[in-house]
Amino acid sequence: SLVLGIESSCDETGVGIARLHPDGRIELLADEVASSVDQHARFGGVVPEVASRAHLEAMVPTMRRAVEKAEVDLGDIDAIAVTCGPGLAGALLVGVSAAKAYAAALNVPLYGVNHLPGHVAADTLQHGALPAPCLALLVSGGHTQLLRVDDLATKITEIGSTIDDAAGEAYDKVARILGLPYPGGPPIDRAASTGDPEAIRFPRGLTGPRDARYDFSFSGLKTAVARWVENRERDGLEVPVEDVAASFQEAVADVLTMKAVRAAEELGVGTMVLSGGVAANSRLSGLAAERCAAAGIELRVPRPRLCTDNGAMIAALGAHLVAAGVHPSAVELSADPALPVSTVSV
Ligand code: ATP
Ligand code: MG
Ligand code: FE
Repeated sequence: SLVLGIESSCDETGVGIARLHPDGRIELLADEVASSVDQHARFGGVVPEVASRAHLEAMVPTMRRAVEKAEVDLGDIDAIAVTCGPGLAGALLVGVSAAKAYAAALNVPLYGVNHLPGHVAADTLQHGALPAPCLALLVSGGHTQLLRVDDLATKITEIGSTIDDAAGEAYDKVARILGLPYPGGPPIDRAASTGDPEAIRFPRGLTGPRDARYDFSFSGLKTAVARWVENRERDGLEVPVEDVAASFQEAVADVLTMKAVRAAEELGVGTMVLSGGVAANSRLSGLAAERCAAAGIELRVPRPRLCTDNGAMIAALGAHLVAAGVHPSAVELSADPALPVSTVSV
């Protein structure tokens, strides 16, 4: 069956189309994304009103492009999945309203799905079904969580999360401190490639013996970077942007992989999947590969395009729901900006 996925939780309007084969394989047919990121860049973060308007303008054209790319007719679609949370209320509503309209017009079931398991589902488009149980390290602009995944469609349990900033948020803030553009992940990744990761020893949050084993904290790290740069400037010295970027990136990757590997070992799961925008980070995936190999854990990382927000991951999660025989959403489906990760679909 053909599943269409719609994503509009933040600043990407995404429409993906996936085919669920009788053997359970999910094949990606189209993945169209329109981003309003350039409109937010000068504000250093996403402006909700601007994002909502951009979704409104991009939704129908993105839908058209996806249908064209997949070489299907809208009338061939068997089910629609849409991100109904978490995210920006106004942005989510554009996607949910569009999905409702298309589902009604095409007379097909509609699944309101959670964006966060969607990030994890993206990996199944590239690497096939996930072994159960497995561990997911979800690292994105708004979230940093360790998830035990027993069933992508029905059973996801949060075992740890950040107590302050998300990893992606830390990247965006540190980029700002260093005068790099928004969003900060890609330019820091690039700058770090020519820097020395051991130049500055930045703090590793929540890694003390009494600290929560699976929780994260990145706001102290961000402050430490800000202090270091301030002191340097006050002393009239040049800021070695590449070294600061590499040292910051090392601290983030170190803590994330250390805790994720520990969780996988303590949970006794053999597979770890990285997901969310920060999973596109080269050092994070590199260090995770090293440490997973040493611990005998299989690591799965989707290609960068599938890590950041897109409609394909929502189509994929929708296909998992269809395959699992989960009930579609009621017609009253609405957006829930604070949808908890354990609620995979509503
Ligand atoms: P959420 O999924 O929590 O609702 P979001 O959808 O805004 O948040 P994503 O699109 O999944 O987040 O990820 C965006 C984040 O990923 C940004 O903070 C961005 O800086 C970060 N990011 C993207 N590429 C990289 C990279 N190569 N290295 C580090 N961070 C990156
Ligand atoms: Mg985004
Ligand atoms: Fe996201």
